[in-house]
Amino acid sequence: MGKYVCPICGYNGLEEEPYCSYEICPCCGYEFGSSEYFNKSNYSVDVGYEFDYKENEKFYAFIRLLWLKNGAKWWAKDERRPKNWNLVKQLNHIQNYVFEKNREQGEFLEFQFCEEENKEGVDLKKIKHWKDNSLYVHIENPLFEKYLALLQNSVLTNGELGFDEGGINYYSHEKTIEFYKKIQQDESLPDRKVLLSWLEEAIKREKGFYILGI
Ligand SMILES: [Zn+2]
Repeated sequence: MGKYVCPICGYNGLEEEPYCSYEICPCCGYEFGSSEYFNKSNYSVDVGYEFDYKENEKFYAFIRLLWLKNGAKWWAKDERRPKNWNLVKQLNHIQNYVFEKNREQGEFLEFQFCEEENKEGVDLKKIKHWKDNSLYVHIENPLFEKYLALLQNSVLTNGELGFDEGGINYYSHEKTIEFYKKIQQDESLPDRKVLLSWLEEAIKREKGFYILGI
């Protein structure tokens, strides 16, 4: 059994990456061929500081809905259907697939809640990336430049102040509030609502946040 997840039904035993592989998912019966080709260019993050899997997801969701409406039947007539097959559990695999796909598309900055008090100087190896409650922005997103000016004074792993796109930037609780206020005041900043509501959560947690280069 393979290890790739079907983005339509969540079956996690595909032999090949589900992109133009011409493999047929034994569960939902979808063949990964030319039909999804046009979606490839849309693996990107939108201006709203969150994963944008919308274009692909819209397409896959459409196929998924057809399959579910059809009774979510196991397609293959062979032995590959797992014992104790559980549709809900299987559909849960899709979210992981979405994260993995986006990760492959380039470099991101991850806005991650800090879990511990005053946690500066942490080791990048000890940090787990791609948390569900983080915000992500593609490093090449031109809109991010506007925010960078406000984000320059993070504490770096060497204790100095600055901003390291490829490393760990720590913002204390006080700095989080400072940053929040600056963004709130400047209505010209693009898509600030998403960021503001995420920062509100960070402020509630009172432990600051990281911006991580990944
Ligand atoms: Zn499938």
